[in-house]
Amino acid sequence: MLPKKDRFDIPEGVIYLDGNSLGVLPKGAAARAQQVITEEWGVSLIRAWNSAGWMDLPRVVGDRIGRLIGAPEGSVATGDTLSIKVYQALDAALKMRPDRRVILSDNGNFPTDVYMAQGLTRTIDKGYEIRTPSPEDVADAITDEVAVVMLTQVDYRSGRMHDMEAITQKAHAAGAVMIWDLAHSAGAVPVDLAGSNAEFAVGCTYKYLNGGPGAPAFIYARPDIVETIDPALSGWLGHDAPFAMELGYRPAMSTERLRIGTPSILQLSVLDTALDVWDGVDMHDLRQASIALSERFIKEVEARCPTLALASPRDQQVRGSQVSFGFEHGYAAMQALIDRGVIGDFRAPNIMRFGFTPLYLDETDVVNAAEILEEIIRDDLWDTPKYKTKSRVT
Ligand SMILES: *Cc1c(COP(=O)(O)O)cnc(C)c1O
Repeated sequence: MLPKKDRFDIPEGVIYLDGNSLGVLPKGAAARAQQVITEEWGVSLIRAWNSAGWMDLPRVVGDRIGRLIGAPEGSVATGDTLSIKVYQALDAALKMRPDRRVILSDNGNFPTDVYMAQGLTRTIDKGYEIRTPSPEDVADAITDEVAVVMLTQVDYRSGRMHDMEAITQKAHAAGAVMIWDLAHSAGAVPVDLAGSNAEFAVGCTYKYLNGGPGAPAFIYARPDIVETIDPALSGWLGHDAPFAMELGYRPAMSTERLRIGTPSILQLSVLDTALDVWDGVDMHDLRQASIALSERFIKEVEARCPTLALASPRDQQVRGSQVSFGFEHGYAAMQALIDRGVIGDFRAPNIMRFGFTPLYLDETDVVNAAEILEEIIRDDLWDTPKYKTKSRVT
């Protein structure tokens, strides 16, 4: 049953609507970190790579994430950050279509995904072109010039959600390779990766999966293509026999070839504990709860704050687990909200963004948040200098 608030440490007086950016602290995470530090590192020392299962942890955690995104056992590797996983997937995908020169994304993609594509294509230097039409136009932009379609399923600003199955089919019909970024999907909406037949998927674990700041990313490769991937980032832990210490790179004959270097054991361990809460959660129940919370929030805010404009799709079927409103003074209004314990975030130029995480939110939270927002907007409580100075992270 949802929510499962007792499984998290949420500060008193806070209504947290930013789990789409950084999930809350799961109970048990601190104890796990403590145990890994004092017992495994402190006492077992280097023996812990074997005795505490450190070397297998990236795969173990990958399988736990796989269950939430419809990926079969052994098909998900964890490590590094999402930007790096985007680079790995894109390079591998481009090599599968050596005669094509177009990468298709959209202008709603999270900038780092596009930046990584820009950096990679500059390095390869073979005249690649990156096309970024609007999300609404991307399906029609899939032509037989396209080598790779690389999209983030849920738009980080609006929450607009692509139809994963339809776009993957279209990409394949045009002979292109498909990469899905699941940053705002994993733990937020049901995903059937195997069913979609996409070649690659990537995502992060510090958003809806609550792995903590800087928690490792994940990458999925469709099992039938894994052994043909030529890894760009050919680190020793992706080698078939890392401890043979051969001087030539020979990739592992499994998803392990997408590993690079030494895993961040502290973060991975915390993530492992964070994933415990998902045992027994049905993603379809979670989706129902997410839709109910989002619909209620939209209804309350539209009734209470007529100057805010819904910037997310009204149709719940094509909206992820977040709701955005456009407001000219959105940054200041968000600071005023945060000051009153309602934490969301702001995305330029004018988006107030609210994430809905049914694991630790209920209807009362949503209604209370809308009440506080109403006060701020109605009485112009945002209109004070202290709310207008931008911080480094918005
Ligand atoms: C959050 C997010 C990222 C972040 O990448 P990091 O390397 O983890 O900083 C990348 N892409 C998308 C689509 C995201 O939503």
